[in-house]
Amino acid sequence: MCSALQQLPDKHKQILLIDSHQENQSRLKSILEQHPLYQLTRCNDHVEALLILQQSSIDFILLSCNNSPLPCSTIIADLHKFRPNTPIIALSPHITEEQGQKLLTANATDFLSYETLNTEILLRTLRHAELTIKQSTEIQLLRHSDTLAPVGNRQFFYLTLLYKLNSLIQQGRQLALITVDLDHFRKFNTRYGFSAGDEVVLELGKRIQSSVSNDAMVARIGNDEFAIILDLPGTAPLLDTVKSLLGKLINTLKSSYTHSQSQTQIDCSIGAVLAPEHGSEVDLLTKRASMARMQAKQIHGCSYSIYRPGMELTSDKTVGLESEIMTALRAEQFVLFYQPRVDLHSGKIVGAEALIRWQHPTRGMIMPSDFIPLCEQNGLIVPIGYWTIRQAGLHLKELKEAGIHIDRLGVNLSFRQFKDDMLVDTIKRIIKQEDIDTSVLEFELTESAIFNDENHVRECLDSLAEEGITFSLDDFGTGYSSFSLLHKLPINALKIDRSFVSHLNESSEAEEIVRSIISLAHNMKLTVVAEGVETREQLDFLIQDNCDQIQGYFYSPPVSFSDFKRMLPKPE
Ligand code: C2E
Ligand code: CA
Ligand code: CA
Repeated sequence: MCSALQQLPDKHKQILLIDSHQENQSRLKSILEQHPLYQLTRCNDHVEALLILQQSSIDFILLSCNNSPLPCSTIIADLHKFRPNTPIIALSPHITEEQGQKLLTANATDFLSYETLNTEILLRTLRHAELTIKQSTEIQLLRHSDTLAPVGNRQFFYLTLLYKLNSLIQQGRQLALITVDLDHFRKFNTRYGFSAGDEVVLELGKRIQSSVSNDAMVARIGNDEFAIILDLPGTAPLLDTVKSLLGKLINTLKSSYTHSQSQTQIDCSIGAVLAPEHGSEVDLLTKRASMARMQAKQIHGCSYSIYRPGMELTSDKTVGLESEIMTALRAEQFVLFYQPRVDLHSGKIVGAEALIRWQHPTRGMIMPSDFIPLCEQNGLIVPIGYWTIRQAGLHLKELKEAGIHIDRLGVNLSFRQFKDDMLVDTIKRIIKQEDIDTSVLEFELTESAIFNDENHVRECLDSLAEEGITFSLDDFGTGYSSFSLLHKLPINALKIDRSFVSHLNESSEAEEIVRSIISLAHNMKLTVVAEGVETREQLDFLIQDNCDQIQGYFYSPPVSFSDFKRMLPKPE
């Protein structure tokens, strides 16, 4: 037995060989067969390798560089990104020193030529590679630096916080722990991919680092979660300093992020907790900072929240708002905004969609995505829904009295509202009480609403249609897109979902979907409305493809009722 093998630890080591040449595979197999400590798994290319790496634990990667369509350095970079702590040894029939150096720069741990390969060299290289990786991992840990962003890592964060808290009181100091993360980052990753996600996290880390003074410590403690420890003398105005830092952070973090040559606006949420005021233990403080951050998540846009004693009681994301919604209805904190619908043939505003907003007395304007899903869960959408219909009706009446006519006013009706047995009767009562012009009213439904209980929904719609109300199918294309529904139900319009419109001129698939929806709608004599039109190019595409109406920021964002009224032509 050779000397190299005697020094190997007593555990099986899994080697993954990426090489499509049968001859090379057999050669390595025969070398390693003599050494039961090593087990060889073989595959033909690096795509297959990535799948294997996902499913099994591999200790070494041997990558053959001579027969792949991609440059070896690209493959090494890919594998390294996926498994930064697994040694990668590049193999080729003959590797010059210069080629070898390039491979090392690309993150290969070592390189070997097949022509000089023998048992001893291979075993020595494996042992050496293992040691190199072990040492570099240790160095990384010692440096406490994050692998992605130019900040400390999680371990560094805990050690620093522990160290500072231990000496906080004796030294008469105080500190703030601030945690920051991005809203809906998982969705972002799903949509744009992990490497775009990495770019954003890197940029986030840099922005945070640049916003804090040199003596503050920044670390990445989760995927997209960063922590800041601000350590101040006991006499400093801690709360004021924290507030001004939070303001600065919001300003720096709210601008859009560049990734793979495009730009995306990503909101962030920030939570802060003070020590010793709110606690002096690591776990308690990190928990309270997260609670404050969760509170901040309930507010639209980049926002922060500072821990308050008692926040535990309302820390469940939903509870805080839930109890306030009924009060909000009574206190008239809800308002309807209107987003114009423009006819593409005449270029004129023909209608609008009513969109609810919550003017919260302390939290500012809360957008529907931050409370409607919650209200759908807890049933509060039912009273809110009635409020919306009544309010939209009152506005319609006001327009009528001013002699202003619109063809359509869209009001969203949520799937949950159909669970209310009184839905049809209550709507009819509101219409009567407020003398609402039903021929203008168009309820916007989503396919999920209809699928929930098709027969019941059909009965409701038929009964409301008798009153003269019309219906549109909202977010069309994203749901089941069941065409049979369109035949069975009294639907007058399709609203093409924003996700397709926003990819016009970028994705031929999106273009094809939009074209098919338009032609489907026209075949069925339905009006088709494109939502979320933001650019001239999107508009041109829709005009050319004969779309009937558009809604979107290109023309106007949702505006207050008085602004909407001003946008409409004055009566003669
Ligand atoms: P939705 O029905 O799909 O409404 C369209 C949303 O897209 C609105 O967001 C609008 O502001 C936004 N939007 C319009 N044009 C553009 C554009 O060009 N670009 C971009 N990026 N966005 C655009 P909003 O007002 O935040 O409403 C969000 C959702 O909340 C609505 O989606 C709807 O599902 C729900 N919602 C709003 N008001 C009500 C309501 O009174 N009742 C019910 N049940 N749901 C409502
Ligand atoms: Ca809608
Ligand atoms: Ca929609």
